[in-house]
Parts: sequence; structure tokens; C-alpha cells
Amino acid sequence: MQVPAPVEYERASSVDDALTLLERHGPDARLIAGGHSLIPMMKLRLARPEVLIDINDLDELAYVRREGDELRIGALARHRDLLHSPVAYELYPIFRDAERVIADPVVRNRGTVGGSICQADPSEDLSAAFAAVKASMVIRSAGGGERIVDGADFHVGPYVTAVGDAEILTEIRVPLRPGCGSAYEKVERRVSDWAIGAVGACLCLDGTGDDATVTEAGIGLAAVGASAFRSASAEALLRGGPATDEQFAAAAAEAASSCDPTADQRGPVDYKRHLAQVLTLRALRRAAARARGQEA
Ligand SMILES: Cc1cc2nc3c(=O)[nH]c(=O)nc-3n(C[C@H](O)[C@H](O)[C@H](O)COP(=O)(O)OP(=O)(O)OC[C@H]3O[C@@H](n4cnc5c(N)ncnc54)[C@H](O)[C@@H]3O)c2cc1C
Repeated sequence: MQVPAPVEYERASSVDDALTLLERHGPDARLIAGGHSLIPMMKLRLARPEVLIDINDLDELAYVRREGDELRIGALARHRDLLHSPVAYELYPIFRDAERVIADPVVRNRGTVGGSICQADPSEDLSAAFAAVKASMVIRSAGGGERIVDGADFHVGPYVTAVGDAEILTEIRVPLRPGCGSAYEKVERRVSDWAIGAVGACLCLDGTGDDATVTEAGIGLAAVGASAFRSASAEALLRGGPATDEQFAAAAAEAASSCDPTADQRGPVDYKRHLAQVLTLRALRRAAARARGQEA
């Protein structure tokens, strides 16, 4: 059995303390939250931090709540917190859809929302869900500075985010919009596996009738090589148009052609592109039904 290389361990008592420790130990230090991504990477020597800074005592970052016209999720909220949050479900059922199919209860009990999106694995489900709902990320730096990064700029590339060496992700903010419905669809090889392909959709409509217009659209994709987990061109195609099945089909075709899947043990390129199309259409239909109040 593989074991990680020797590593120093520090336990942060607050966000400020974590930032001080990060600054003191420099770029060879890494934050550890649930450890479900970092520890396996350390075992495989894909990550070799000199110091681990444990943030599991930072209860101040463990919440899912509504504040004004935003849903706010602390970086240390566990997957299970988001899965079972009544307020998240009421406002954005996409998160329950996604959390239901992320890993298994063992991973969901310990893994955190912040660790998930900071890992920035291209197959990561929550990154696609946050892309669909156009979330922004709050990042704190040593010295007390705080910046809010648009979700489109948060994921710089595979396994790379906008969070700097002496910084910590503290919160994810999701704007609340009227007339909005959201949904997540995923296909995996077996229960609790990573996605072969997955799509989150969020639609805001100006009414509930058949003649409703799409006022805002978000399409997030995981595991199919979408830039920043998004299809901006498919979103543009929907925005301002009728909320009809024809439009959804056209957007699904656009989402599939705008992504760039790679072949691996989960499937060939054509299959993944096909999934992107089928799952986008399904997610848009369910998001629209929810926006119209026809589905929970
Ligand atoms: C068996 C298994 C199956 C899985 N299946 C899925 C799946 O189907 N879908 C899916 O999306 N994911 C899946 N995952 C991934 C899982 O969701 C993540 O491993 C987990 O949520 C990451 O969170 P963590 O708290 O464990 O992060 P950690 O492993 O502790 O950290 C991950 C990275 O994020 C950094 N980090 C953590 N918190 C912060 C912060 N607040 N600010 C800045 N940087 C931070 C760490 O330094 C590290 O680089 C699976 C994992 C396992 C082990």
C-alpha cells in the first residue's frame, strides 16, 4: 500500500491563523480539508507538500445559508451539508441533483465543497453546477485582503485555480434570480463513480406559459473538456429566445460541439460528445420544468 512522504502538520484555529501559517511556510505548504483528493495525490507522489495546514476546525466556514439575494456556501461545508440543505434545495435543486451522484456517503461526509472546487479536477461535478448557476468565489489573503472572483475566472485550467499560495477560498456565492429553474444530469460507469459526462443547466424564464422567454441561461459541463466548465456559446444561443424544445435541442448541439473531450478508460471522444448533447437537452428540459413549477 502506498504511503505519503513524511510531512509536517499544523492545525489552524481560524481563517487568519491558516493564512498566517500559509505565509510562514511558503509555497511548499498546502491546506488540507477533507483530504479525499489531496491524500491520494500524496500517496501517488503527484503532490509532495512539505507542510499540511489542517482547516477542519474552521467552523466559521461550514455553512449553507441565504443572505439577501444570494445563496452562500462556506468553503468547509461538507458535500452532505449541501446535499441535505433545505434552503439550497428550495433555491437551487441542481445542487441536490449533483450531490446525490458525487462519490459515496463516506466521501460526502468528509469531502468539502471548497476542497472539491479547489482541486479543479476536470471531471468535478460541483464546478459544473457552479458554472451553470454563475457563482462567484470569495478568496482571502494574508493581511486581511479579500477578493471576489467571477466563476468564469476561478478555474484557470485542469487542477489550477485563481487561489494563490498564501490565500484561502472562504465562500461561494450564488445570485438568486426570479423565475429560475436548475437541474443536473450525469452518466457514470457505475454508482458513485466519476462522470463519463455531466451537465448542469440553469434557466430563468419571464413567465410560466408556453410562450415564456429565457432571460438568463447557464450551462456547465464536467468531464468533456469544456473551457472553464462552461458552454458560453450555448448559453448565448438560449438567452433572449423562446423556452422551447427546439431551442433546447439547438443549444444542446452547440454545447456538444463547443466542448473538447479526450478519450480515456471512461469512453471515446464521440461517445462523450454524444453524452454532452443528450445530457444538456435533459438538463435544460428539467430546468425549464422547474422554472415553470411543473417539477420539484
Ligand atoms: C472514491 C472517490 C470518489 C469520488 N467521486 C467523485 C465524483 O463522482 N464527483 C466529484 O465531483 N468528485 C468526486 N470525488 C472527489 C471529491 O468530491 C473530492 O475529493 C473532495 O470533495 C475534495 O474535497 P476535500 O475537502 O477532500 O479536499 P482536499 O483533498 O482536502 O483538498 C483538495 C485540494 O483543495 C485545496 N483546498 C481545500 N480547501 C481549500 C480552501 N478552502 N481554500 C483553498 N484551497 C483549498 C487543498 O490544498 C488541495 O489542493 C471523489 C473522491 C473519492 C475519494
